[in-house]
Amino acid sequence: MFYFDTIAGKKVVRSDLLSKDEAEHFFTTRELCLYSKTEDMTPNQKIVENYLGKVLATNKPVHGIHIEKIVSHKNFYEETDGLLIEKVGAAFMNFGDCVPLIFYCDKVAMISHAGWRGTAQSMAKVSVKKLVDAYGFKPKDIKAVIGPAICKNCYNVGEEVYEELYKTVANPREFFEKRDEKFFVDLKGINKQQLIECGIEQIDVCPYCTACGEKLFFSYRYENQTGYRHSAVVML
Ligand SMILES: [Zn+2]
Repeated sequence: MFYFDTIAGKKVVRSDLLSKDEAEHFFTTRELCLYSKTEDMTPNQKIVENYLGKVLATNKPVHGIHIEKIVSHKNFYEETDGLLIEKVGAAFMNFGDCVPLIFYCDKVAMISHAGWRGTAQSMAKVSVKKLVDAYGFKPKDIKAVIGPAICKNCYNVGEEVYEELYKTVANPREFFEKRDEKFFVDLKGINKQQLIECGIEQIDVCPYCTACGEKLFFSYRYENQTGYRHSAVVML
């Protein structure tokens, strides 16, 4: 279940699936924005780094499925959509409607980025495969947290995108809807289904939409391609 917390008085959301002993993690809201195309967000990053007691690594996402393991002498990772932390380290990744995925198992954590392109390439399954292949984890022992992203009611896509995503799950039913000749998809639901299909049993899904309801997060689609992002943050 997701719950609210604050860091330096600024709202964040966390999942109770991961204990702080396992991995410190949270999703920032608009109050603690770590990325803007035009503004310098260094003060907010410093707030988070002071709270964690560690310098944060981050990435430039390209809607791919490449995953990098973070290393202590490098804080920026070009063209990668997955950041893997082994034993020690801290990282954040930025989102504006796309699905943030946080994984944890036995002192290894990962943040993955799954927009529609990443989801069509089954980034959730690719991420699990990486953890299983590199560390020998059993899928049932891996915890997966799906962060805030655009909901099915808000995510109207073209027919081609709908068809691409439909192919990625064995049991698509409730994640896809045709309404008034428009196509809607539940990106969080599709990612959850991809995780279930590769044997993940422990999954927590954030109930909040980035576009509707309380404006807790940023929506690229509904805020005129905003240059601001909210972030998934993980530390081991
Ligand atoms: Zn919505």
